[in-house]
Amino acid sequence: MSGRTEVNLEQAATEVAASLQSAGHEAFFAGGCVRDRLLGIEPDDFDIATSASPEEVQAVFPRAHGVGEFFGVMLVHRRSWPIQVATFRTEGPYSDHRRPDHVSTATLEEDAARRDFTINGMYWDPVSSRLIDLHGGERDLEAGVIRAIGSPEDRLREDHLRMLRAVRFASRLGFSIEAETASVIKGHISRLEGISRERIGEEVRRMLLDRNRSSAGGLLESLGLTASVLGGVREVESFDFLSSLPDVLSRDDFGTVLAAWSLDRAEEAGPHELSDRWRDKLMLSNTDRDSMSEVLEIVERLHSDWSVASVARQKRLAARRRFEAAVRLVSVSEPGLASEVLSTVDQLALTGLAPDPLLGGRDLIDAGFQAGPRFTEIIEAVYDAQLEGQVRTFEQALQLAGDLWGAS
Ligand code: ATP
Ligand code: MG
Repeated sequence: MSGRTEVNLEQAATEVAASLQSAGHEAFFAGGCVRDRLLGIEPDDFDIATSASPEEVQAVFPRAHGVGEFFGVMLVHRRSWPIQVATFRTEGPYSDHRRPDHVSTATLEEDAARRDFTINGMYWDPVSSRLIDLHGGERDLEAGVIRAIGSPEDRLREDHLRMLRAVRFASRLGFSIEAETASVIKGHISRLEGISRERIGEEVRRMLLDRNRSSAGGLLESLGLTASVLGGVREVESFDFLSSLPDVLSRDDFGTVLAAWSLDRAEEAGPHELSDRWRDKLMLSNTDRDSMSEVLEIVERLHSDWSVASVARQKRLAARRRFEAAVRLVSVSEPGLASEVLSTVDQLALTGLAPDPLLGGRDLIDAGFQAGPRFTEIIEAVYDAQLEGQVRTFEQALQLAGDLWGAS
C-alpha cells in the first residue's frame, strides 16, 4: 500500500487525468465527485470520463483492466487508489439500466446528455481547474434543485430508476425536485414495476440509511412512489419513527430502519409476514429481513405483554440483539412504557440478563438421564428458574431437573 499516505484520492485521480491529457485525450472528473466537491463534501470516489477508448486507456496505464459489469469502464490503480475511467458514451434506451442496449464512444456533449440530473452532469478539469457545465448544474446546485437533463418525460421513461434517484438526491441534499420533473414522476407511478427489485432495494437502502431518511419517506409518499416500491397504499401522516433514529447508522441497521418505516406506515401485517413481503419487494438479504422482523416482534411483545411477563420472559426478551433498538422505537409512541421497560431492565440486570446456564445437556447425561426429546424442555425450564433466581447452584439445578423429569 505504498504511496497512499503521501497522496490522497483526489490527487491520485488528478494524476490519472493529467496522464491521459498528456497522451492527447480529454479527461475530466465527472458526475457525483464534481457535484460533491462543489458542495464542499469530500467525494467517496472520483470517476474520470475520457475521450480515450478502453484500449487507449490501457496504452497509458498498462495494468488497467475492464470493470466486469460496465462496458467501457476501466479500473486504474494509482498510488494504490482505485479510480474508474469511463470512456465518453451515449446510451440508447435502457432495458434495465445496468446494460444499456447500445454503447458507443461519444463526445463529451453526448456523455453529459446521457446523465440523469443537471447536478450530476458536470465535469471538472483538475489540470486547468476548470468547470465544464453544459446543463446549468452549478446554478441548480446553488438553487437546491434536482432537474432532469433534457426532457424529464424522456429521461425518466428511459430509466425509471431515475425516479428513485431523484428522491435520494433530493432528500440527501435537502433539495427540491423541479416541478416538471416531479410531475412526470407522479404520472409514471405504475412504471416503477419495470425495474429490477434489486436496484429498487439498493436505492431505498441508500436513501434510508442517510440521515435525511424521514424526508426520503415523505418524498416517496408525496410523489406516489411507495405503492410501487412496497405494494399497498397507506395514508402516512408523519415519520416520527424514522425521524427518531440516530443520524448516523451502519449497513447493519437497515433492518431497524425498515421496522421504523413500517411503524410509520402503521402496517397491519405481523412481523414475519411483513418482513417476508418486504424482502421480496426490496430484495432484502435474509439478515436484513430477520432483523426487521426481530425488531417488530420485540416491539409487539413490549406492547402486548411486558408488564405481565415473568422475570424469565422479560430477561429473555431483554437479552435479544435488537432489544435496545426496539425500546427506542417504542419510546416514540409510548414513552411511558419505554421508560418503565428500561428501569425494569436496569433492575433485572443486577442478577444477570443472560447468565451462562448452570445446567446443560451434557450434565444431564452425566447424571444418568436418558437423552431424548424432553431434554430441551427440561433444560429451558431449569434455565427459566435460574433467570427467576429460584435456582442458584448446579446442585439446585440438577435437583430441579430430576423433579421435572419425575413429574412428567
Ligand atoms: P453517489 O454519491 O450517491 O454515488 P453519484 O452521482 O456518484 O452519487 P452514481 O450512481 O455513483 O451516483 O453514478 C455516477 C454518475 O453516473 C452520476 O453522477 C450520473 O452522472 C451518472 N448516472 C448514474 N446512474 C445514472 C442513471 N440511472 N441515469 C443516468 N445517469 C446516471
Ligand atoms: Mg458515485
